[in-house]
Amino acid sequence: MSEKKTVIQTLQAVRGMNDILPDDAEAWEHFEDIVRDWLRSYGYRPIRMPIVEPTPLFKRAIGEVTDIVEKEMYSFEDALNGELLTLRPEGTASCVRAAIQHKMLATGAQRLYYHGPMFRHERPQKGRYRQFHQIGVEALGFDGPDIDAEHILMCARLWDDLGLEDVRLELNSLGSSEERARHRAELIAFLSEHEDRLDEDSKRRLHTNPLRILDTKNLDMHEIVEAAPRLIDFLGEESLRHFDGVQSLLKDAGIPYRINPRLVRGLDYYNRTVFEWVTTRLGAQGTVCAGGRYDGLVEQLGGKPAPAAGFAMGVERLLALWRDGGGEIERALPDVYVVHLGEQAQRLAFRAAEALRGYGFAVLTHCGGGSFKSQMKKADASGAQLAVVIGDDEAAAGEVGLKPLRGPGGQQRVALEVLGDVVAECLFTEEEEENDGSV
Ligand code: ATP
Ligand code: MG
Repeated sequence: MSEKKTVIQTLQAVRGMNDILPDDAEAWEHFEDIVRDWLRSYGYRPIRMPIVEPTPLFKRAIGEVTDIVEKEMYSFEDALNGELLTLRPEGTASCVRAAIQHKMLATGAQRLYYHGPMFRHERPQKGRYRQFHQIGVEALGFDGPDIDAEHILMCARLWDDLGLEDVRLELNSLGSSEERARHRAELIAFLSEHEDRLDEDSKRRLHTNPLRILDTKNLDMHEIVEAAPRLIDFLGEESLRHFDGVQSLLKDAGIPYRINPRLVRGLDYYNRTVFEWVTTRLGAQGTVCAGGRYDGLVEQLGGKPAPAAGFAMGVERLLALWRDGGGEIERALPDVYVVHLGEQAQRLAFRAAEALRGYGFAVLTHCGGGSFKSQMKKADASGAQLAVVIGDDEAAAGEVGLKPLRGPGGQQRVALEVLGDVVAECLFTEEEEENDGSV
């Protein structure tokens, strides 16, 4: 009988869904630390929602005739009970659903944030993935232009904290639903006259969601879209006052912006202020942050009517921009690497390492055996400043050897009780020497 070889196919991650490996994940964590401090400094509090939600939530919140609901959602039927579920494509709908479900607005307005993965079935390319991450900020129960301005000011400060350059602000107002209805009628009339110049998507949307045609990425249609009636010309007094309020706070804060009458956003729930932060440094995927006001959504999802505004940032795009501008982080290295040979020595090694961690140091204990020589190589490669060395002699004496790995000096014997102090002294002296050297 001939020997059969089974070929085991290598399993790969789903297309458009990325692993974030340690070098990158450390940069992500550093970025997340900066973001958390920034959010706290504006008084926003965290909320965590499930990644899977009932499909009708997104249909109702985002709108049936939108890119997301028409073609980008990962929806499936729960095999056990037939419930229709969707991997969340964005966070606002879930956040508002949670606020209603838990009656969060009963205790007053809420400043909230969340971060995590979102899922959209799009064509993967640079800056566009099927699993991507957003940091979302929502302010529920606020109706004035002040919160809109606060959101924009917040973003500007974060770009500053991250040292980002070349991020421009685009601003528009979508007015009220009545104002949009009047504009819509004229927009349909105008676009119908030029129907031959619309692409297939736009023809289909002409009577269902004509506003979205203004948002087209099809360059061939830009001329017709430029000539179309502008929503901003249909705004009434109240909407204009709100929009002026936002703009004067931006001017006070010295934040430059451009009014873009074609900025309509891809989701149905927006009204009044909408904005995007855009860069030219990332090619076609240049929008790093987008948001605006959505006064109707709480009621639309079954809550007591409450005004609201928010925004979401694309983490992958922001990180790409951050790193493009030199925003790299130094890897956090261990302070101490513990090498040991023999059974007694191993016991002492574990005790010494725990004692040092209790002191606040980062410690790698060698695992997996091997000669002193090979362990010392690993200690060196780990980037640690010091090695703790324990052999039979040290173990018998209840002491450890301490050896600098980066600077001069030989190995010294140290009693376990004072190890923390001696390590602190060594690390502190080295730091001082480094600082002196750089002056
Ligand atoms: P785009 O026009 O680029 O498709 P969008 O209007 O669909 O963006 P939003 O729903 O407003 O995006 O999401 C907010 C932010 O999330 C975007 O500005 C972007 O930075 C990021 N984002 C959206 N979709 C993706 C994706 N598929 N991959 C990576 N980031 C994304
Ligand atoms: Mg999109």
